[in-house]
Amino acid sequence: MDQLFHAVAIDGPSGAGKSTLARRVARELHFLYVDTGAIYRSIGWYVLQRGAALDNAELVAALLPDLNVEVRYGEDGLQHMVVNGQDVTDEIRSPEVSAAASQVAAIPAVRAYLLDMQRNLARTHNVIMDGRDIGTVVLPEADCKVFLTASDEARAARRCRELAQRGTPVAYEEVLSDMRRRDEKDRTRAAAPLRQAEDAVVLDTSELDFEDSAQALLRLIRESISHEA
Ligand code: C5P
Repeated sequence: MDQLFHAVAIDGPSGAGKSTLARRVARELHFLYVDTGAIYRSIGWYVLQRGAALDNAELVAALLPDLNVEVRYGEDGLQHMVVNGQDVTDEIRSPEVSAAASQVAAIPAVRAYLLDMQRNLARTHNVIMDGRDIGTVVLPEADCKVFLTASDEARAARRCRELAQRGTPVAYEEVLSDMRRRDEKDRTRAAAPLRQAEDAVVLDTSELDFEDSAQALLRLIRESISHEA
């Protein structure tokens, strides 16, 4: 990859706080924040709309030529997802779409379809990109790789608060079991499974509040970037 721009890769299981932390830190560093989970969610949403079986790799792959997924940045600087011209930024946040995203993300044709889109963003901007395979597959030469994690209980409690704030509350036990099922699927799939890159630094936020986590993440990024310079 061209080294004209800086790239920060943040991977980890769901609910570890990747997106809120990455967004906050990207704002401070004036980097573009790319939420790759939102891209997989957009495909999951589309396949649900089309009524296709989410686990049928051939059928899902056959839908891809009709699909135009765009990442756009609004005036607010926030990432919007647009599928065939329709803004689906809010629609992709439901638990149903979370599960659908995880199913389509296991299909190699879907991952191949999205790889260039993700790499192109990093070729043209300083990025903080979060997901499951950013440090291992998408940006293996990133300046800084962080594996962000927290205990299952802490992650489920955060996800519950997030869903309640969106006005779509879900019971803690249900969130915990959905999250564990999705993580297990992400960890054990054959195509680009969730795992820590060998050169990633682990940041466990179970005992840290948001501001301390953000400061720890900023420190790691600044150290890596100053070593690169
Ligand atoms: O990060 P988020 O929870 O929004 O991601 C939704 C799903 O998309 C994940 O459970 C995972 O299956 C998939 N995903 C992925 N690779 C990425 C980002 C997300 O497989 N880089």
